[in-house]
Amino acid sequence: MSTPRRVILLGSTGSIGVSTLDVIRHLNRQQQEFDVVGLAVASQAEALLEQAREFDVEHVAVRDEAAADRIQDRTVHGGPNAAHRLVAEVARPGDLVVAAIVGAAGLEAVVEAIRIGCDIALANKETLVSGGELVMPLVQEHQVKLLPVDSEHSAIAQCLRSSRSVDEIRRLVITASGGPFRTWEPDRIRSASVEQALDHPTWTMGRKITIDSASLMNKGLEVIEAHWLFGLPAEQIDVIVHPQSIVHSFVEYVDGSVLAQCGPPDMKTPIQYALTWPDRVEGCGPRLDWQALRQLDFQQLDHEVFPSVRMALDVIRAGGTSGAIFNAANEIAVEAFLAHRIEFGGIFELVATGLREITPRPASSLEIVLEDDARTRACIHDVLDTMDTASVSTMKS
Ligand code: MG
Repeated sequence: MSTPRRVILLGSTGSIGVSTLDVIRHLNRQQQEFDVVGLAVASQAEALLEQAREFDVEHVAVRDEAAADRIQDRTVHGGPNAAHRLVAEVARPGDLVVAAIVGAAGLEAVVEAIRIGCDIALANKETLVSGGELVMPLVQEHQVKLLPVDSEHSAIAQCLRSSRSVDEIRRLVITASGGPFRTWEPDRIRSASVEQALDHPTWTMGRKITIDSASLMNKGLEVIEAHWLFGLPAEQIDVIVHPQSIVHSFVEYVDGSVLAQCGPPDMKTPIQYALTWPDRVEGCGPRLDWQALRQLDFQQLDHEVFPSVRMALDVIRAGGTSGAIFNAANEIAVEAFLAHRIEFGGIFELVATGLREITPRPASSLEIVLEDDARTRACIHDVLDTMDTASVSTMKS
């Protein structure tokens, strides 16, 4: 590369963000040059400053205002839309924005980046789950690339490089590790503890996404993302449980051929693929150990025990803001579970409640998407408050 590729990294201290900087260090050592020009985090100001010094980044953003105030020697944005403002200030057409912020805050920043003409390496699920109906036309309009970072979507994108049109695809099969409760009895899953849910067998990730993996809500979110990324209806997207997390997904073609992308469960490979796309260069992640590889197992997903994927397929069919409702209800449900306010099984009930109580609308603007996100959060908070009151009065009686 002649001129370095400018990169803005949103969510730089999270699991994906830290791995992205590892990959950039590695690529810059082998002449694939990337110039980090912006970093955004939720609250870890000290870790952010360390990164900003190492990569010589002047412009940073911290969502937590008190934490933002601790940064003196940089140009800093603070507050709820800090990442959005960072993008507006720093991004130029042709830059790469790595969107690894968790939550709806990432959506606004990504929409801004697309409007400016940046390519997006996408790890933020809300961008497509909540905003897909809005974001995909913008991607078209501004002729930018949306490069998936998630291992499953990266796998599908890689398998799709051998096809010439969507008509050749019979279906996408997204693999799921099955999470820590794959072999548990339904009753035990219902009342599983926070510690048990955080103990993921194959992937090391943040707390929110680890709970989503245990509930398979993560798979539901990925199914919705796949629908938007690859333009296929719910009927052509399937999920299969694959406990070893070696096959990252399949594409089944109309002629009967099935292509898979495999590798060790490590995010550096899909992150690097998004950064160097359409090229492949020497990687820095672990290699598949063929000596240690004994078998690959596949099982049907039990949709009764884990209704997440079925709900997600219904969300695709419903369209509009139903993805935003699904996602927002799940975020509040996960928070409530982590705060020991609900049982693990309560996550499914709260998400179903959100989808039942809030009527989706066409996602015609960012404001409408964010409004329905907020309406859902308020609705689920109300349900939780009512539950708390009910359980307190039960204890008293
Ligand atoms: Mg994934």
